Amino acid sequence: MSGDCLFCKIADKEIPAKIVYEDADVFAFEDINPQAPVHLLICPKKHFESLHHAEPEDLMVMGKVSMIAAKLARERNLEPGYRVVMNTGRGAGQTVFHLHMHLLGGREFTWPPG
Ligand code: AMP
Ligand code: ZN
Repeated sequence: MSGDCLFCKIADKEIPAKIVYEDADVFAFEDINPQAPVHLLICPKKHFESLHHAEPEDLMVMGKVSMIAAKLARERNLEPGYRVVMNTGRGAGQTVFHLHMHLLGGREFTWPPG
């Protein structure tokens, strides 16, 4: 838990969210401002700011974040295609500084992203 972190507070149930998955290492919840019919955020429970701050010891949890994203996508039948995104740093649009993977699906996506 990091002092004033929104996503740590969601993990600790201090702030409500629609949690769709939780285990000892990872939690996932619905984005409050969805950008697609399915828009979930998958987070490590350990607080670190972004991918840029991940350490070798975080290898397992980062793998788990990816695998849980895939599991949630399979459960929601997103096979036609979905997008996973980790905005990393303010310049890339990161606004909450607790690492999270966006899982977006249920519509068409274009490339390159904005
Ligand atoms: P990013 O801009 O990549 O850091 O993504 C942060 C995401 O967190 C945005 O998509 C927000 O809509 C989402 N968000 C912010 N506050 C909440 C909240 N209280 N519950 C759920 N999602 C949130
Ligand atoms: Zn945090």
